[in-house]
Amino acid sequence: MTSGPKQRTIAKSVSVEGLGLQTGGKVRLTLKSSPADSGITFVRTDLPDKPSLNLRLLALGSSDAVERRTTLGFGPGQIQTTEHLLAALSGLSIDNIAVELDNTELPGLDGSAKSFVDLIKSSGVVEQEKARNSLKVGRVTACSAKDSLIAVFPDEQFRISYTLSYKDPAIGTQFYSIIVNEKDFETEIAPARTFCLEEEARELLKRGLGKGANYDNTLVIGKAGPVNTALRFPNEPVRHKILDLIGDLYILGMPIMGHVVAIKSGHALNAELVKKLREG
Ligand SMILES: [Zn+2]
Repeated sequence: MTSGPKQRTIAKSVSVEGLGLQTGGKVRLTLKSSPADSGITFVRTDLPDKPSLNLRLLALGSSDAVERRTTLGFGPGQIQTTEHLLAALSGLSIDNIAVELDNTELPGLDGSAKSFVDLIKSSGVVEQEKARNSLKVGRVTACSAKDSLIAVFPDEQFRISYTLSYKDPAIGTQFYSIIVNEKDFETEIAPARTFCLEEEARELLKRGLGKGANYDNTLVIGKAGPVNTALRFPNEPVRHKILDLIGDLYILGMPIMGHVVAIKSGHALNAELVKKLREG
């Protein structure tokens, strides 16, 4: 008999509607419970034959960081901006779930993982019969690119230490370290919103990105501080980078027992680490 944690799913179907942060596309997202050992499956209900993508079966290298978001799969069936929902699923220890959407990009909602946490909790979380799998990090694994780095060290817990550094003094250098458990994820990480500098916001819109972004779901930081909003935490940006990282790591479909140390790591480098961890 194993007394370790059990796998979890949600109690009943729940839905939410919103706009994709980058594409601005209207989307309805429905979460449904899934049997033990089935993992996390995304389903595109708007396409013929409703193509699905299970994280366990995801081919190596087919998660990619395109234009400031994490995209899963290839071609017309791809799923964009998965990181905030996946962070919520990781934070609440949901192993098995079906994620249905009728457009290519997940809804941005409030720009953090809080709305997804609330949605999952409105359904209820239920334990299943099977024991939970986890990836125990046995040796140091690292990836780096230009001035960014990500490494994972063996640890008894799931811990993240992140350093963010912007030339712009409005954001500057921020460091935050947290042992990721359900309670602290909910209060310290989940509410941290997507952010960008005011000049980046203008540039992104010119490139056709950020179409669903507004001052409610994106923390825009100008010379004099946040524009049209107040910070939810003094170091909200570094907390959001940790949120993104938790979501990107959950593409593994199971929790990591390890200490992830990251310096200026974004979706592309996070994906590289996931690939290395999958390859063992
Ligand atoms: Zn994000």
